[in-house]
Amino acid sequence: MKRSSHVILTSHNSQVYKDSLPIKWGAATALERGPVIGSLTDTTKRNAIGTHSGSYTVYRALSIAQGRYATNHKPDLHNTESPVKIGPHASWFDAKKMVSIDPWGFDVPIHFQKYFADGYDVRPTVAVTQAHLQIPEIYEAVDQGRLKIDGKIINENKDIKITKVAFEPVWYLPGIAERLGVDEGELRKILFQETGGMFPELVTRPDLKVMLPPIGNTTVYIFGNPQDLAKPDVELTCRVHDECNGSDVFGSDICTCRPYLIYGIEDAARTAQRGGVGIIAYYRKEGRALGEVTKFLVYNARKRQAGGDSAATYFHRTECVAGVEDARFQELMPDILHFFGITKIHNLHSMSNMKYDAIVKSGIEVVNRISIPENLIPPDAQVEIEAKKAKGYFNPGAKKTEAELAAVKGRPIDE
Ligand SMILES: [Zn+2]
Repeated sequence: MKRSSHVILTSHNSQVYKDSLPIKWGAATALERGPVIGSLTDTTKRNAIGTHSGSYTVYRALSIAQGRYATNHKPDLHNTESPVKIGPHASWFDAKKMVSIDPWGFDVPIHFQKYFADGYDVRPTVAVTQAHLQIPEIYEAVDQGRLKIDGKIINENKDIKITKVAFEPVWYLPGIAERLGVDEGELRKILFQETGGMFPELVTRPDLKVMLPPIGNTTVYIFGNPQDLAKPDVELTCRVHDECNGSDVFGSDICTCRPYLIYGIEDAARTAQRGGVGIIAYYRKEGRALGEVTKFLVYNARKRQAGGDSAATYFHRTECVAGVEDARFQELMPDILHFFGITKIHNLHSMSNMKYDAIVKSGIEVVNRISIPENLIPPDAQVEIEAKKAKGYFNPGAKKTEAELAAVKGRPIDE
């Protein structure tokens, strides 16, 4: 494959094409809303900034650079549709309910059949499938009688049957700006500058309102019937979990992430077994969206500081290294819940007020908040949990005083 070595900047005025479909975010039907076209097979039809696959778009570029991937490849979407029906819900027609995902990125061959026929390369940004989960802690929960084998939610071999949904980020920039309380033009300029000038259209094409940012995706696991999520009278148990690879996957004991996540899964399954529905949303926002390198540096700084790792200085140490203590922007998190038409959560597994406030502010009612049971907190994670409680994270127990907080210590760095 011979490719030209020069690049035509998409920011040039002559690159505005008549085949590029308008996007009317929040319109009354899929066709009126219009598909988001971020594919590159026909650049005259693009109507979004950036391209598909989130952060993996960079790997696709490497494959193309090596000549192993044809730039004109169009995905064969035959048989890829969802095995369960989801939506459309009222939230899909509301420009303000979802600004960081595209509800119409779901089952695009069905919703945008007309445009496929016209040669538009519409790509899905939402995918749904079904699977069985094999989790050691869940086997234990069955053995200890906390969960029962019912052949419906939990199989004879103790596996949990679930539906899972993957979301790629799709940002409606005016909506993102409004949620974050910033000016859209200012947001576009800073996004352009702080990615080293990655997407010139951010500043040169203010008419393009949708961006496919090269960031991580979100995955949802549903326990029970996905359609029940939209029914406020069906008991709903929910955990909104931000990625912590060290704990979630490897069992690292400095935080409570895996124990809390698995407890959420157990309770979501139990809720489904008594006729309700459960949902676990897993956001790729490693280390409070500051990244794992920053996170490990903070661990060392915490453990090496004078007096050792302490709950009293937990948040401050992160800010010293990263510049901010948190970059997860929970304001955007509830979008995922609105995709499923959720209006009421009976049991919310989260101690974070940032998450709770964002969910309630987005119009979802929360009945009970469930904190992690004390017996599931690893000893070295006491620093994190006490620091969070003192900071006002939800917990039914008493808050520690400044002096008590200083007495909660983690393991030294060399142990
Ligand atoms: Zn963690």
